Amino acid sequence: MKSPAYGQPKACVIGWPVAHSRSPLIHRFWLERLKIEGSYELAAVAPTDLPAFVHDLTRQGFAGANVTLPHKQKAFELCDVTTPTAVCLKAVNTLWIEAGKLCGDNTDAAAFMGALDQDAPGWDINSRKAVVIGAGGAARAIVYALKLRGMKRIFLINRTRQRAAELASDFGAPIEVVDFPDLLGVLAGVNLLINATSLGMRGQPPLAIDLALLPPDAVVSDIVYVPLETAVIRAAKARGLQAVSGVGMLLHQAVPGFERWFGMKPCVTPELRGVVEADIAAAP
Ligand code: NAP
Repeated sequence: MKSPAYGQPKACVIGWPVAHSRSPLIHRFWLERLKIEGSYELAAVAPTDLPAFVHDLTRQGFAGANVTLPHKQKAFELCDVTTPTAVCLKAVNTLWIEAGKLCGDNTDAAAFMGALDQDAPGWDINSRKAVVIGAGGAARAIVYALKLRGMKRIFLINRTRQRAAELASDFGAPIEVVDFPDLLGVLAGVNLLINATSLGMRGQPPLAIDLALLPPDAVVSDIVYVPLETAVIRAAKARGLQAVSGVGMLLHQAVPGFERWFGMKPCVTPELRGVVEADIAAAP
């Protein structure tokens, strides 16, 4: 187990606001199941206070931290050492201290793939073409993950075309920007469609998309997880397509941080998923 600065190992999630975060629920579940005497806290840190907070992690007794909105990009800039994935994504969601240095990784890309592999096993046997809707931080991680997995074509579409064009130019082939009027033209040839926008989140309008043209073996993934079942997931199920909700990605992104801070690799189990889904379903 990693040696804490003093006392039991502890970690936190840094955000602003942060009260809605499910990270404490996930990490405390694993701490209890693995019988590790450690703790995981919420850290509400305003943007102006972020540099001081992360540079002071060890003195505060933290082995490391998760980073959530709006700090992922700024935290990346504050790190002394970053993984190649974090460099490609220009953002970190996991921090730890090694040899006195602040280190950062981005686990969203691996988490997206881990969730897809777990929840739709075999999804890529025939699937070599994907549509990604969105061009924000999450879409960047997903496009990166799909490219690493060897997808033949990745069609990227976003409300603000310029943002999609920048992402496509950063990663190069096989990413192609498409415009909304052209979307229907590509749907018949893709086996994976992902909503990586915030559309469909509670309080946001739904993503309006007709899935009728997708092939019958297509997988539809929506990384939004509040609500648990978005309009896109409902529409995919109604068409008999495999549908993957955002909860799996949320759970998988937590694994590497836990292992670094607490010294044991936890599993994403149906029991953990049930606990987190019940918490989301019960939220006002
Ligand atoms: P972000 O960087 O703010 O990007 C938001 C994206 O949504 C952009 O592509 C934006 O388009 C698009 N969008 C927002 N409002 C829209 C509207 N009214 N019409 C069309 N497009 C709209 O956010 P993010 O970090 O990428 O997160 C996106 C979503 O993924 C959030 O709901 C977040 O909760 C979820 N997420 C889930 C996980 C997970 O573990 N499951 C992980 C990360 C994120 P423009 O570029 O045109 O503004």
